[in-house]
Amino acid sequence: MKTIYLDNNATTAVAPEVREAILPYLGDLYFNPSSMYQQAVQVAGALNQAQEDIAEFLGGVFPDEILFTSGATESNNTALYGSVRANPARRHIVTSAVEHPAILEVVKDLERTGCEVSVVPVDENGNLDMREFVGALRPDTLLVSIMHANNESGVIFPINELARIVKETSPEILFHSDATQSVGKVPINLRSEYADVDLLSFSGHKLHAPKGIGALYVKRGTALRPYLVGGHQQQGRRAGTENAAFIVGLAKACKLAAQCHAQEEPRITAMRDKLERELTTRIPFVHVSGKGAPRLGNTLNISFHYIEGEGILYQLNEHGICASSGSACTSGSLDPSHVLKAMGVPFTALHGSVRFSLSRYTSEDEIDEIIKVLPEIVQKLRRLSPYWDQAKQQPRPGAPRGEVFDDRAKHPV
Ligand code: PMP
Repeated sequence: MKTIYLDNNATTAVAPEVREAILPYLGDLYFNPSSMYQQAVQVAGALNQAQEDIAEFLGGVFPDEILFTSGATESNNTALYGSVRANPARRHIVTSAVEHPAILEVVKDLERTGCEVSVVPVDENGNLDMREFVGALRPDTLLVSIMHANNESGVIFPINELARIVKETSPEILFHSDATQSVGKVPINLRSEYADVDLLSFSGHKLHAPKGIGALYVKRGTALRPYLVGGHQQQGRRAGTENAAFIVGLAKACKLAAQCHAQEEPRITAMRDKLERELTTRIPFVHVSGKGAPRLGNTLNISFHYIEGEGILYQLNEHGICASSGSACTSGSLDPSHVLKAMGVPFTALHGSVRFSLSRYTSEDEIDEIIKVLPEIVQKLRRLSPYWDQAKQQPRPGAPRGEVFDDRAKHPV
């Protein structure tokens, strides 16, 4: 059976061009870039080139503003712990309710060690509450950490504007953004539009590079203590022998993302829109999270009232389709997603969400296959749902007064 992969917010396929760029460094070019012989200097040269390419990709920043890490989790940990340790006099942090656990868990830990944290809520569309955001900023705030695009809903926060507001409040406050889901999908120019951002995290495997490589942009002059200490690699800012192969791969992936962007983003968005349109027309009682907000063009988070997302995923997988439950907590607990809860998704839809996330390797035929099989899967699961019989008698959320719902009319058995 053919695999239909629509879980690109979880991870992406390594691009063939990236794999090709990596291979020499897993073969003959295995030298430690810190060694002094000519062969190793060649590897060090490749790292410098990768740094330059990524700096260029992010709007022409200084190459030494790019720090290589093992991924966004390490980049986020470095940004948060590193700035707290470098600025012991300031203890107040502002973040949002819908951040990835790689921010929220760090912030909780910092709270236990004496930091004060303000968590800004979102509205039902997933937009950040701007009034609360502005109100949370204080003259003694150390750091603001607000993600760029949400991994579950795809909702994009205006970090350029948020960073500007932060700097107007006080140029001393640092602005960090977890841009793991937006880098490669949304152009980010850290010299012009996004110039007020001080720190920016991302991971290679969300843009067709391998897992286990990422970067943190650190604006020159930002006080930051290293998170990993040991050797003097990367000017003493992150210890550990550099993963030369994957760093080269990350730079290649960034270049490819820039090249493909103009052509691929409209195509991806059109496919996502088709999927959303067709599913919402063919299936009653659905809820699309983030629909009323600026959203990544590749993400559709759709909830089916009265059934479980996991059941849907299981059945989709019988057709070779890979997607993610938008509701299951990553820790494996049965708690519904903190993101959907923060958005006030109705209780009956909270457990029934599925996240489809597309990439430039997604084809229209794959989208058509989902449109073909999903209505029947939902219908079958609803027949087994104890809530469904009662629910059918209720007015459809948002339906005109007096509408009688008949699922057979929409889905002849
Ligand atoms: N932040 C966001 C928004 C993410 O989506 C992810 C990955 N799901 C991470 C951080 C962590 O990335 P990694 O697992 O590559 O460290």
